[in-house]
Amino acid sequence: MSDALIEELRAALGERGVLLQPEDRVRYEQGWRYGDGVARCVARPATTDEVAAALRICARHGTRVVPQGANTGLVAASTPDTSGEMVVLSLERCNRTIELDERDRTVLVDGGVLLSQLNERLAEHGMWFPVDLGADPQVGGMVATNTGGTRLLKYGDVRHNLLGVEVVLGDGRVVSQLNRLRKNNTGLDVKHLFCGTTGVFGVVTRAVLQVAPKPAQRATALVGCRDGDAVLALLGAVEQHLGDVLSAFEVIGREALDAVLRHQPELRRPFDELPDYAVLVELSTTLPAGSLELDDVLEERLGAHLEEAGDAIADVLIGSSDEFWQLRHHISESLRSDGRMLAFDVSVPRSSLPAFTARVRDLLAAEHAFVRLCDYGHWGDGGSHLNLLWNDGDVADEAAFKAALQDRIYELAVREFAGSYSAEHGIGPHNQRFYDSYTDPAVKRLCSVLGVHCDPNRVLGTARLY
Ligand SMILES: Cc1cc2nc3c(=O)[nH]c(=O)nc-3n(C[C@H](O)[C@H](O)[C@H](O)COP(=O)(O)OP(=O)(O)OC[C@H]3O[C@@H](n4cnc5c(N)ncnc54)[C@H](O)[C@@H]3O)c2cc1C
Repeated sequence: MSDALIEELRAALGERGVLLQPEDRVRYEQGWRYGDGVARCVARPATTDEVAAALRICARHGTRVVPQGANTGLVAASTPDTSGEMVVLSLERCNRTIELDERDRTVLVDGGVLLSQLNERLAEHGMWFPVDLGADPQVGGMVATNTGGTRLLKYGDVRHNLLGVEVVLGDGRVVSQLNRLRKNNTGLDVKHLFCGTTGVFGVVTRAVLQVAPKPAQRATALVGCRDGDAVLALLGAVEQHLGDVLSAFEVIGREALDAVLRHQPELRRPFDELPDYAVLVELSTTLPAGSLELDDVLEERLGAHLEEAGDAIADVLIGSSDEFWQLRHHISESLRSDGRMLAFDVSVPRSSLPAFTARVRDLLAAEHAFVRLCDYGHWGDGGSHLNLLWNDGDVADEAAFKAALQDRIYELAVREFAGSYSAEHGIGPHNQRFYDSYTDPAVKRLCSVLGVHCDPNRVLGTARLY
């Protein structure tokens, strides 16, 4: 690697725009859950022109680049490999523009703006960007991973709310498709190439998003269910009777809830005896309290369901939205502190979730009885985060053990249950092997044709889509 690369990046981005020292680089080199590499340097452009200049320089030197947002991704795609040769292209300084058009209900936003910053600004106008999750990603990262989140049931994922993008291609060309129209059927809608493709075709520097009015009221319940079938029956009932106002249906398995309560002692225990599944049901509406009392609506409906379902429902708690969401949002970090872990982000048709989960339990009981299954997820969208935990020292060769478990569980999800091995976290080194096995060769060929045009020097990203 020549010093000329660094000198050229410095000339284009200024001193602040290039980080070289190990202590400055370290936070860009380690992923939230997976990914631990070494970067040649961190490039921090502050404008689209600077992103283009940095990519031109890297392409000319044949240097690979990993675009990075807030580095909250969960498939090791946002960090460099261990070669010490990749440049991390952080968008954190591209974070100035947040231009709301209230009447159109759209916002033009820089790729490096954090979701929390965007929502803070939108809140001043009674609005929000409703793709909601327990992390604080950047807008560009959200586009690149097509973030789902906990309110997908009502608002959809990023793709559903994305109107336009500006991207810089691998050789520095800028493609500006900052469409603000909700209806525009005029041929290929280019933005979709860059949504959910993890930065392999271009770096998202700006996006136009549609935003939503903030709900005027929410009502939240935590429902204890005897088993997975009881969860599905509850989902059917709330969709049938409350579908217009249903905004979240989040499921927490007993072992996951137990881990949260052990690791977060400040949180109140909701049930004396933990049920197999606790379901967070949230209703929300822009109708003000007074015209409709959402708490009453929820209580009445869940009361009726309790009578119909009998002992399939262990308990119904109507209460503090914050308290219930705290339980949900602390799962990930609580499980991380609870032992050695392998996490799965799978989806299957939601009617199959109980059968799929039972098959995983049976498999573990038969072959690895020391492994605990802690599951939770967005059951309304068929998404399940299965986390397998064991204690230090239980496994001799952890890498081989994890690989074997991944093979078994992904095979079950994809082949036997017609599901997905990556429901919402996207593709990266963590699950590349499964992209390679499960992706239709015709799709890979199409990606290859697009790749030749979008990234002719093949410098972008850590995932290999073709
Ligand atoms: C506690 C926790 C909870 C989470 N919950 C959810 C959830 O409910 N739903 C969900 O979908 N995800 C969830 N995630 C995963 C993660 O937050 C999302 O994938 C997020 O959208 C990633 O955004 P980021 O800015 O952190 O991107 P990064 O992690 O920095 O990057 C992710 C990928 O996008 C690429 N990329 C980043 N910025 C750009 C850009 N500007 N242009 C092109 N490519 C780019 C990177 O190269 C990488 O491939 C969670 C993560 C955590 C830690």
